[in-house]
Amino acid sequence: MKIGTAIAAKGQLVTGHVELAQYPDTPIVSPVMIAQGLKPGPTLWIQCCVHGPEIGGPISVARFLREIDLSTMSGTIVGLMVANPLGFRQYNRLTPQDGANINRVFPGKADGSISEQMAHRLLQLALEHGDMLLDLHSGGDLTITAHYVIYAKMDNAGSREAQRLAGCVGSRYQWGSDEPWMKGSALTNFTLMGNKPALIVETGGGARVTEHDFANYRASLQGLTRAMGMLAGDLPTVTDPRPGGNAVHLKAQVGGFWHPNVAPGEDMVRGQMMGRIINIFGEKVAEVTCPFEHAWVGSIRRPFMPIYSGDQMMEVVERA
Ligand SMILES: [Zn+2]
Repeated sequence: MKIGTAIAAKGQLVTGHVELAQYPDTPIVSPVMIAQGLKPGPTLWIQCCVHGPEIGGPISVARFLREIDLSTMSGTIVGLMVANPLGFRQYNRLTPQDGANINRVFPGKADGSISEQMAHRLLQLALEHGDMLLDLHSGGDLTITAHYVIYAKMDNAGSREAQRLAGCVGSRYQWGSDEPWMKGSALTNFTLMGNKPALIVETGGGARVTEHDFANYRASLQGLTRAMGMLAGDLPTVTDPRPGGNAVHLKAQVGGFWHPNVAPGEDMVRGQMMGRIINIFGEKVAEVTCPFEHAWVGSIRRPFMPIYSGDQMMEVVERA
């Protein structure tokens, strides 16, 4: 296996760079790590930093790959460390050049905008080499998420395998979704076009990465590689799971400061007060309540962030 300049070698961890697009003067590359076990097995393709500020992913992948005893591993793990180098270098969730959110433009286009071209290239690489796609995210700078796992709900074997694997990443928040935005995501297109499993795992955000977040990423990487039969060991046990269906992304209709009343992962019932917007004069100008009978908090906007009309305040996931 060769990914750009990284050439896999049995029992070794190698690094290199792979071209995704071009600057006016040089290639736009992502760093790549390949860890290959001594025994044959599947290839786990891990994609990090589709959104620039979500840096818990690449740090965790590098740590995880360096602690594996490759003489005992079956198969190969590829870490594509910076899927959107343009967003990463600007600390930006979006691609500065075209303002696009890459995870909404998959499967991309070979002759489209720069984000569409990078999405096209990322998907081709993942489909060509990966038996399974793990897309690592977080709330980045603006939001804070629960430690949750999403898979694309569709009627094929890849989706069913994704659902099984979602149960093995050490998260009680297991979310099968077919919401409209998912059509433009890497995981949906990977499962649709490849009939192969794909997961998003997210944890934390709010412009920092905590030890708790690192422990969550590590548990997910460990659980997934064990569930795929690549590494030996017990699967994480998940007590009291919170299966999720579709979610609503609540947008502010007035400006002010966001005062959340609930935390990521918290259970909620219909009508429960989830948060308020307080204006610059200290007056309450909006209050948001839970729209579902039973739900949990997928993510909240960072507490006290100034918000414009239209900014997302919360992601509320309906209990499945
Ligand atoms: Zn993200």
